[in-house]
Parts: sequence; structure tokens; C-alpha cells
Amino acid sequence: MVRSTHGVNCTGSCSWQVYVKDGLIAWETQATDYPSTGPDRPDYAPRGCPRGASFSWYTYSPTRVRYPYARSVMVEMFRDAKRRLGGDPVAAWAEITGDPDKRRRYQSARGKGGLVRIGWDEALEIAAAAHVHTLREYGPDRIAGFSPIPAMSMASHAVGARFMSLIGAPMLSFYDWYADLPIASPQVFGDQTDVPESGDWWDAAYLMLWGSNVPVTRTPDAHWMAEARYRGQKVVVVSPDYADATKFADEWLHPHPGTDGALAMAMGHVILREFFVERQVP
Ligand code: SF4
Repeated sequence: MVRSTHGVNCTGSCSWQVYVKDGLIAWETQATDYPSTGPDRPDYAPRGCPRGASFSWYTYSPTRVRYPYARSVMVEMFRDAKRRLGGDPVAAWAEITGDPDKRRRYQSARGKGGLVRIGWDEALEIAAAAHVHTLREYGPDRIAGFSPIPAMSMASHAVGARFMSLIGAPMLSFYDWYADLPIASPQVFGDQTDVPESGDWWDAAYLMLWGSNVPVTRTPDAHWMAEARYRGQKVVVVSPDYADATKFADEWLHPHPGTDGALAMAMGHVILREFFVERQVP
């Protein structure tokens, strides 16, 4: 039995006991030995979700991507150019991206499949050549990168962030790659949305849920929402439909789809005014 978690985008990082036999994961059970958070608040344990409980099947799924794949039309052009240009991968990349016809051929193939399995060495060589070419031709600020979320792997996040910093490229928020999470938070406040974590819901007096269906997307933390209400918090849920999170609501605000953007701007203005102007926060 080994201790592990699930390397998916849930950010839950729940602790699991994973049972391994003959090198294969047989099953897993939730760990329950989290340290106490004190006598005046609920425990974190148990943490987990049904998706995590089925992770061992996912690990051995035949549909799991385990090797690099690249679009064949691009790989064939890269190999051909590299062969003709004395084996120089940067020159090969420069040729296929600098030639409008070749560039159009591999870009227009996007979204149409045509991916072929390639080796790790070749995948790394293509990626490295693209970086070197862009650095030389356009400068480091024409490269923008993101890294896996630190909640999933601090080491993976640090490696990517460090690489971007060392070459002089801008580091995007790691949230930018989701596209379904609130990038406005790091843009406005300069830090990430997970600065307060779910345990902090316990200390809040007024909770507004918007853009997150907590029982579904934050399953291991959803119990805090139920428990926090026993302290008497007011809970407002903004959701066009009667989503699972709405069951926590004292007030359910259900804007019609299409009007929620205007509502968000109006409420954001009120909240920011209260926070920065009325309280005179610099
Ligand atoms: S939320 Fe679910 S998938 Fe994520 S770490 Fe916890 S059990 Fe695993």
C-alpha cells in the first residue's frame, strides 16, 4: 500500500491509500488521517470524490494518452527540412514556419486529426527548436508559457515557471490554460484565486457562489459549504439553472443566460467600491 493522490486538474490533492499488486494498481481507499484543524472547526477528513475512486481504471484505460503525438503533415515537413539542412532542427523549424505555404498546410490541418505517434526525443527537439527560433527571430517576449497548477505538482509548476523566467518570457497565470476559471482574479489582484482555500469558508460571514458548482467541481471541499451554514452565514448562489450548488442558498439569484455578464459587472462594481472606496483600502 502506498500513499498517493490524483494528478488531474481537480486541485483537490486528496490523500489516498493505493493498493498495488505485482506492479499494478488494484484499488484505492480514502485516507482519513488528516491532522486536526482544531477543536472549533470541522475536520478535513474524509476527502475524495467518485472520479478519484475510479482513477485506477483510468490509469490503465486504452484511451489514455501515454506517448507524444504530432500532426503528421508538420512532422513530415520538419523531418524533410532537417535532412536537407544538415540536420539542424532550428533551421528546419525556421523553414516550415517561414514558408507561408508550408505554414498554412500544417495550420489548416488543425482540428482534423492526423496525429501520429512520435518519439520523446523528436518531440522535445521540435519544441526546443521552436523556442530557439522564436527567441532568435522575435525575442523572448514573443513566447508566453504556462505551467501545471502548483496544487497538482509544485515541482512541475516550478520547472515551467523557472524555465519561462530564465529565458525572459512572460509567465501566464497557470489558470489561463483552463479557460473556464476566473482569470480576472489574478489580473485584478495579482494573485491566484485559490489564495483563500475552502477551509476559509468556515470563517466567512457572507458567501456568494458564482461560476462554481461546488458539489460537482469541488467535491472534497463541498462539506465546508454545508458546515459553514451552521455558523449562520448568509449564502447567495448566482446560477442561471438550479445547479447542485443552489441547495446551499439562502437566496438564489438566477440571471437569464446572456444577462449574467452585465449583472457581474454591476455587482463587481458595487463590491469593489465597497472594498476599496468605502473602506479606503489603498
Ligand atoms: S478531488 Fe477527486 S480526483 Fe481530485 S484528488 Fe480528490 S479524490 Fe482525487
